[in-house]
Amino acid sequence: VQREDYPAERYIEEILAGNRTFLARAVTLVESTRHDHQLKAQQILEGCLPYSGQSMRVGITGVPGAGKSTSIDAFGMHLIKQGHKLAVLAIDPSSEISKGSILGDKTRMERLSREERAFIRPSASSSSLGGVARKTRETIILCEAAGFDTVFVETVGVGQSETAVHSMVDFFLLIQLAGTGDELQGIKRGIMEMADGIIINKADGDNVDKARLAAQHFRNALQLFPTTESGWEPKVMTYSGLKGIGIKEIFDMIDTYRQTTKESGYFDYNRRRQEKWWMYETVNEELRRSFYDNEQVKQLQESVEHEVLENHITPFVGAGRLLEAFYKSLK
Ligand code: GDP
Repeated sequence: VQREDYPAERYIEEILAGNRTFLARAVTLVESTRHDHQLKAQQILEGCLPYSGQSMRVGITGVPGAGKSTSIDAFGMHLIKQGHKLAVLAIDPSSEISKGSILGDKTRMERLSREERAFIRPSASSSSLGGVARKTRETIILCEAAGFDTVFVETVGVGQSETAVHSMVDFFLLIQLAGTGDELQGIKRGIMEMADGIIINKADGDNVDKARLAAQHFRNALQLFPTTESGWEPKVMTYSGLKGIGIKEIFDMIDTYRQTTKESGYFDYNRRRQEKWWMYETVNEELRRSFYDNEQVKQLQESVEHEVLENHITPFVGAGRLLEAFYKSLK
């Protein structure tokens, strides 16, 4: 990107024409922490924004081994056969630690990665989950402007990252496996509450009956949940990502969801609410960052902390002193 770079207008033009090389480069700018890259990324995003918003955004989560990559490969091939264009993005909260991205890795989606009509992008790495999530949220805008009509946002089932994904998708899929009768163990209630569809993978061979039983467990459990705001009753299905069984049914479900929530107005209401959420989320994140990066705050921090720990002042007085130093430095 650095050496022979193009103006933002050129990026916008090429992205709107569906140029994947420029799309990938623009995502790199979005992910960069360099100030000039960020400025250009924001220009590109602004130019693409009027052409975004038309895709179906689907969040996909499941613990490692649930079959996310196998399933996304199969789902993607199904969609492409139907004439769709699919972008696969990922939010991997551990990517900063592991350095190599686990999610959204091309080598994990063998067939899909060879398709012209698929764009696969691994998780950005950033010092915070909020940072990774924001970059993915921005990348969605670029992909939509480039003509991708379906966007998958993949994450690993560990908790916090689901909330971030949920805040940027229209439909949330939870991949589960049949277990030993205690399927519901270990799944955080909050994640189940977010799911619009729970799909039990590996329903093939000897595993079909077990998967059906698991599905029944989930249906029973869901009945105890309060009705959702969208009015949609989350569905439970079995399928096999490996054998390609039950995949059409999953996408029929997503189509039905889209139709009914578009008609009821929930679909657009939810999108607008998400926009608002992202605005305040970004404000919060920026305020926090500028506070802790502030020289005056840094200078005072240690001594104030000491006073709090020694019980000389209350935590609230301590917070007040740091904030005061911060506000003064802004004048
Ligand atoms: P991920 O960690 O969630 O991305 O899971 P993978 O897609 O890598 O799958 C984990 C393992 O489960 C691999 O060995 C897959 O071959 C296997 N697997 C995935 N989907 C299916 C399926 O539908 N049926 C069966 N029998 N195995 C599957």
